[in-house]
Amino acid sequence: MKAFGPVPSRRLGRSLGINHIPPKVCTYSCIYCQLGRTIRMQSNRSVFYKPEDVVRDVEEKVVKAREKNEHIDYLTFVPDGEPTLDLNLGREIELLKPLGISTAVISNASLMWQEDVRNDLLAADWVSLKVDAVTESLWRRVNRPHGALNYEAVFKGMKEFAEVFEGELATETMLIKGINDGVDEAEMVADFLADLTPDKVYVAIPTRPPAETSVKPADERAINRAYQIFEEKLKHVEYLIGYEGDAFAFTGNIEEDLLSITSVHPMREEGVNTLLSKAGSDWSCVERLIKEHRLLELEYQGKKFYMRKLPSIER
Ligand code: SF4
Repeated sequence: MKAFGPVPSRRLGRSLGINHIPPKVCTYSCIYCQLGRTIRMQSNRSVFYKPEDVVRDVEEKVVKAREKNEHIDYLTFVPDGEPTLDLNLGREIELLKPLGISTAVISNASLMWQEDVRNDLLAADWVSLKVDAVTESLWRRVNRPHGALNYEAVFKGMKEFAEVFEGELATETMLIKGINDGVDEAEMVADFLADLTPDKVYVAIPTRPPAETSVKPADERAINRAYQIFEEKLKHVEYLIGYEGDAFAFTGNIEEDLLSITSVHPMREEGVNTLLSKAGSDWSCVERLIKEHRLLELEYQGKKFYMRKLPSIER
């Protein structure tokens, strides 16, 4: 089966996943990849499956979901590899249009320098681009790109795409402890992203066991710092730190709501106070969550921020 779900996704609501690449064929071998090291490094696009077979699998899933009254917000190309390696991606997106459901592609953006890849993605409604680092040495260290990929071309390609794409553009930046989580790189990534003018900017950390065991997620202080740096230059910055399910699920329970909001973005002291008073609660709630190691108090440029404590990566 090349389709799975629908599964809840914080970014995409209820998403029906499309796995249209054999495992694990990719242009990158990211040190944090949750699928392990890349089995087949490849930079040339090729045909993996017949587009009609991919589309038939998706259609069957959609019919089943509709029979059960399960809503689908997006048909998402999120294979165990890089989706734009599929030479038929554009055709598959077109063939899925009659289903009347928006399409999304989660790409590492490494092939954006190719005009045919950009054209394929123009047909999608939502596209996410990976920008973990913009310094060449860090890009090579974190993403370990295929030898044929040219650093300048990759980043130029992203800009060219962003200029003409009319759908919703998201970016994702994965922060690795001690590698790309410093101030300088965060500033440079923020400048680059500002040029792309994305609709949503996600600051992420690895939340599942990474390809290289030495890889550790950036800590809360570094994540908050990157968030603040990004927010100065970009709109709509959010965390992706491993709380997909319950983010923004307002429950009316102040503790749960505080944890839910701070899993998406840090809250300032004033914001926390406003929420507490709306809920008829007081600061003892925050103190309790901090004591229970569920919430963290962080400082950035003399201001206090509150952030949900990171989940641990289970092996
Ligand atoms: S681009 Fe995605 S699939 Fe490819 S190695 Fe990186 S994280 Fe894994």
